[in-house]
Amino acid sequence: MVIKAVKGVKDILPKDIGKWRRVEDSAREVFGRYDYREIVLPIFEKSEVFVKSVGETTDIVQKEMYSFLDKGGDALTLRPEGTASCVRAYIEHSMYHPKGTVTPLFYIGPMFRRERPQAGRFRQFHQIGAELFGTDDPAADAEVMHLLMTFLKTVGARKPKLLLNSLGDDKCRPAFRQSLVDFLANRKESLCPLCKERYETNPLRVLDCKSETCAETVRSAPTIDSFWCDDCADHFQKVRKALYGLNIEYEINHRMVRGLDYYSRTVFEVTASGLGAKDAVAAGGRYDALVKKSGGPDVPAIGWAVGMERLIESIGDSAGEKTNDTAPDICIVHLGERAHGEAFRVAGLLREQGRKVLCPYRQTSMKKQMGRADKSGAKLAVIIGEEEFNKKTMLVKNLSTSTQKEHPIGDIRKIAAEPPA
Ligand code: ATP
Ligand code: MG
Repeated sequence: MVIKAVKGVKDILPKDIGKWRRVEDSAREVFGRYDYREIVLPIFEKSEVFVKSVGETTDIVQKEMYSFLDKGGDALTLRPEGTASCVRAYIEHSMYHPKGTVTPLFYIGPMFRRERPQAGRFRQFHQIGAELFGTDDPAADAEVMHLLMTFLKTVGARKPKLLLNSLGDDKCRPAFRQSLVDFLANRKESLCPLCKERYETNPLRVLDCKSETCAETVRSAPTIDSFWCDDCADHFQKVRKALYGLNIEYEINHRMVRGLDYYSRTVFEVTASGLGAKDAVAAGGRYDALVKKSGGPDVPAIGWAVGMERLIESIGDSAGEKTNDTAPDICIVHLGERAHGEAFRVAGLLREQGRKVLCPYRQTSMKKQMGRADKSGAKLAVIIGEEEFNKKTMLVKNLSTSTQKEHPIGDIRKIAAEPPA
């Protein structure tokens, strides 16, 4: 029996790794422009880190977490998302000192959710995420979205489209929630089975259910904007103004809610083309109450996460360059048993000096080896046959001009440092 990978979990093969590296490199470069610092967070945390912040009634906590008791009986969970861990680390390392500090962080890594595997939905997937702690300035909301859109454009996501909403805050959202519950009360029968549950536990989630009957049902439901308190309405207007100043196009969607409990005020999502039904590549929002709720000081924050699998899917083959497939600097060609050992000694020396070197394990004919060297795109071939071995020399051939010269083998360091033209 051949053992296969777990359902919903994918290998990223060497042929695709170039795209992944390019996306990660661009992310680090773009984050640098905004002065964000990378944080590497643990893959697993105490379960309560997620249960408390993501919310007990969310899909993630109720159905999707990979939770287990370890041998010591500790309740642990493979992280389903990054924000909760980031908040945990932010508090644990007192990153809020001194008062008023603004802390921009980003992370890159795998997340785990036990969802039904399908196109664009995996059980292990990867996110690039940003979190900005320490300010509730509406300019920060716009800047964080600008960062996201700049990154998406830099990597070549196809037609990224920003959707914007505000979920209000603890002052105004409860009245909206109640009004939505009242609205749904005598329409429960037309909801999908999942939303019948959500009606009880997390009614806001009914608003962005993808099932057609639910979408139809909520078409005439109350929307959050008519419930915003003055402060939330003002914040939203200021965010819009700042987005305008940054020349960012967006679409307002008052039915957009997020699947995590910690959001307040600004929420946003980015869709891209080339993805089919699961077209959301990124999502985020404000979570002004989460740090305090998690035991830290009263520090506002905002963040987002991009799904790397969907992003790479959207980029398509334009991201096709393969970083590991760059041409070698030097190909070694060798013939004869004693030259074999010498060839690998020379290859080792060249690699120590920083050269990319190909050296075949199996000796085929001189013609075949030279053919391979020509095709490889290498600048030089270093040829060592029986005769060269006996004379302690090598032939160094310039593959573009086809000129070659015999060198003492001792010249190898010189050639590594300064390959002859
Ligand atoms: P969705 O509505 O698609 O389930 P979500 O609201 O659960 O998304 P977030 O938790 O906000 O998504 O995560 C942000 C991004 O991470 C998503 O936009 C998506 O690109 C990606 N993502 C989320 N879950 C998965 C998954 N199971 N497989 C692949 N990518 C995912
Ligand atoms: Mg989800």
